[in-house]
Amino acid sequence: MRTVKLLIDGQLVDGHKNTDVINPATGKMFMQIPLASENQALEAIAAAKRAFPAWAATKIEDRQAMLSKLADRLQENAEEFARVLVKEQGKPLAEAAAEVLYTEAFMRYFAAYDAGVETIQDDDDLQVEVYRKPLGVVVGIAPWNLPLLIGANKLGPALVTGNTVVLKPAPTTSATSLMLGELAKDIFPAGVINIIADENDLGAILSSHPDVAKVSFTGSTVTGRKVAGTAASSLKRLTLELGGNDAGIVLDDVDIGKIAERIFAGAFMNCGQVCIALKRLYVHESQYDEMCDTLATIANNAIVGDGLDNGVQIGPLQNIIQYKKAQKYLEAGARDGKIIAGGDVLNRQGYFVQPTIVRDIDDSSPLVSEEQFAPILPIIKYSDLDEVISRANDSEYGLGGSVWSSNVARAKRVATQISSGTVWINHHLHFSPHIPFSGAKQSGMGVEFSREGISEFTQCSVISVSK
Ligand code: NAD
Repeated sequence: MRTVKLLIDGQLVDGHKNTDVINPATGKMFMQIPLASENQALEAIAAAKRAFPAWAATKIEDRQAMLSKLADRLQENAEEFARVLVKEQGKPLAEAAAEVLYTEAFMRYFAAYDAGVETIQDDDDLQVEVYRKPLGVVVGIAPWNLPLLIGANKLGPALVTGNTVVLKPAPTTSATSLMLGELAKDIFPAGVINIIADENDLGAILSSHPDVAKVSFTGSTVTGRKVAGTAASSLKRLTLELGGNDAGIVLDDVDIGKIAERIFAGAFMNCGQVCIALKRLYVHESQYDEMCDTLATIANNAIVGDGLDNGVQIGPLQNIIQYKKAQKYLEAGARDGKIIAGGDVLNRQGYFVQPTIVRDIDDSSPLVSEEQFAPILPIIKYSDLDEVISRANDSEYGLGGSVWSSNVARAKRVATQISSGTVWINHHLHFSPHIPFSGAKQSGMGVEFSREGISEFTQCSVISVSK
């Protein structure tokens, strides 16, 4: 059986005990991982603090080269990473391979970053320059839906800008992050990267620690608020990427045959467990029946199963808690609407739910108003465009959203009225390292990716010279 270790202060070490990692496709253990004790979490922060001055003073070219090397090593080991990712997370192998590829691509983008020194005034009176300095120890905390990618997207910007890191993945999906630690060990100086695993007990210790300068957190809004609370006493810098309940608005002029597969993919990728998945679909009354029937057919034909089996398109929910939550949303769908595809769990081992389409449901149902994070899509009928825009915005969340139309100018007029960090037109769930990503309202604080997102890992420092 494959084993993994924690990475603390440049050493691969055991934890204070091991825990089973459950394969959600079988409900059974497939490997064990070490759990860090509270002392080991504190050691990781102390190691990162010790390593910081030398790392911050390391030439940017050297930091970039080390990050590129980590991307190279990931590429060399991509197949093993993808297979372990399927077993720990549940997603189909093609999606796992894509996550590994994205992780590598994001890392290469971060590795190319150099803020340089920006001269913003140079005239007879003043010379003003802006420097970007590292902050210190950065804590990265990740969720279980895209564990490798989200973890690496905290490491990359932090390291290239000269910070040191303690990364903590989610308890049920730590294996691939610890494997990344194995690769990082021989590339980076001791203490620059530390990766530990926990049983949901170390996040608060890390994010409240006085020696931590910044927390980059991705997870639920409820936990994000706790992180903001504990960070307050020392005014830590925060990036919070939190929950979402993305609405898709289908205007009355679409070619359903052209867009239905894309809508389905936007809602059901990763078994619906993506913060920016399409979670409620508003369709104009003139095309409502056709859209419902088309999506129900796609859902009925989707192949559900173990992500390692050929041809599987939708895997299991990642963990038993999420599986039970999904069953509550199935009940809500049956109670508040009409199920036209799926509607049940699979009668087999593992945490499988049939891809489910629910019609004739309205905004008052929890399946529509809450973040379901499951393969269940409610389709809601509308007749008035202004009214549906305000219904789409009537949510505490504001992460993503989409507008679907044959007329892009018309779609843009709608898109600009949606209060969320991203609005896609005629697609959903696209993200890339050079495109800023952020959540409005209770979906987060700060920006990730792009130069703007990377600069959040730095302190802006102005030198002003009088002439
Ligand atoms: P979660 O909030 O339960 O856990 C996220 C991480 O926080 C885990 O590593 C957990 O161990 C840690 N944690 C728990 N308590 C903590 C505390 N008090 N202090 C610090 N850390 C703590 O979220 P989850 O269930 O793992 O993930 C699903 C959620 O994540 C969904 O709401 C989803 O929308 C959101 N998400 C958001 C994005 C985004 O970019 N906006 C991306 C992926 C997932």
